[in-house]
Amino acid sequence: METLKGADLEALQLKRLRRTVRQAEKVPFYAQRLKEAGVSVDDIKSPGDLTKIPFTYKKDLQSGYPFGFLAVPLKQVVRIHTTSGTTGKPTVVGYTRQDLDNWSELIARNLTMVGLTDEDIFQNAVNYGLFTGGLGFHYGAEKVGMTVVPSATGNTKRQIEMIDDFGVTALHCTPSYAMHIAEVAEEMGTTLNSLKTGIFGAEPWSDNMRKILEEKLGVTAYDSYGMSELYGPGAAFECPERNGLHFWHDSYYVEIIDSESGERLEAGERGELVVTPLNKEAMPLLRYRTGDLTMLMDDDCPCGRGQRIARIMGRSDDMMVIRGINVFPSQIEHVLSSLPEVGDQFMVYIDRINHLDEMTIEVEMNREFFSGELQDLSRVQKKMMAALKDVLNLRTKVILVEPGSLPRFEGKAKHVVDRRGQAF
Ligand SMILES: [Zn+2]
Repeated sequence: METLKGADLEALQLKRLRRTVRQAEKVPFYAQRLKEAGVSVDDIKSPGDLTKIPFTYKKDLQSGYPFGFLAVPLKQVVRIHTTSGTTGKPTVVGYTRQDLDNWSELIARNLTMVGLTDEDIFQNAVNYGLFTGGLGFHYGAEKVGMTVVPSATGNTKRQIEMIDDFGVTALHCTPSYAMHIAEVAEEMGTTLNSLKTGIFGAEPWSDNMRKILEEKLGVTAYDSYGMSELYGPGAAFECPERNGLHFWHDSYYVEIIDSESGERLEAGERGELVVTPLNKEAMPLLRYRTGDLTMLMDDDCPCGRGQRIARIMGRSDDMMVIRGINVFPSQIEHVLSSLPEVGDQFMVYIDRINHLDEMTIEVEMNREFFSGELQDLSRVQKKMMAALKDVLNLRTKVILVEPGSLPRFEGKAKHVVDRRGQAF
């Protein structure tokens, strides 16, 4: 399946695309959308015919909150995960038993591709809640037969003790948390001898960071790509060549488009990643605009597997990825505008301090509430940080500033300054 090529691959993709369109027609949104576009499954005679179908946007999924995009009765949905939304409402993703099987299979493929086997001890140091990284990798690693340590996040010293005590050979976490683990390990005076493989994803990281992580943790580091809408992580993964990520061509139909015109781009041309999952049962998607910028690689990988995308180069919208959590400036705006103490402007600064993302928000006070009394200000500051934490699920630092003191911009306001530098 991984090395399928030419007519055989095309035939498989076509069969699965047609099945996906039929499945999508069970969702009222898609039934309507396809009717409006005058397209039915009979019009899909080759994978290229997919371009007759309109794109699906994140905002479409949000409009269906919570279960509007399910193509099966809720009774057949055995799990849900969610992604963060722009106005507080997340996108809900449903999985049938078959979906969970498919997803674990893909993760298992990724892990075996980089040489992991049932001899390995796998520490899964990511959030186990509604975030797909925890349970997704957990079941995939179990499928391979690895010994899984579901350590989740937090208590870094204990994480390090577990690596040493259990002889953990493979670590999965966000790259920024990996960096933190490496530094705490250094302080504790352990070299994490047993570690061989590092799997890092959920936020962008540079080749420079790869070098540092490999050196500090003594691992070979691999990049992992996915998003909840596409099951979760596991959609694409680096092979041992580590020159681009193989996007599983039997499970996802990949297009790269010009974000503005929507036109399809050739291999080697950078644009927005658009994905049609080919095996999803509970929540089929047609031409989903991921917002991630990359390109299809135009050469064949020596490993013999199929299509690859370049590592993600950024976003076509204003989404920020902070500690693996998606944050939109509109979410911050929404929270702040609901507070009477807030004035007209705010600025967001993102820094990487000790390899962890930190978000600082400067907020102009409303003139009426700007008293200058320190006591009062700290109360307002705490109230804002609590309101932001509630919606973003992230700790932020709020600095209150005088009305009129932040820069004004012509046209579209620039609210965000990303000072992480090494991110892309
Ligand atoms: Zn390869």
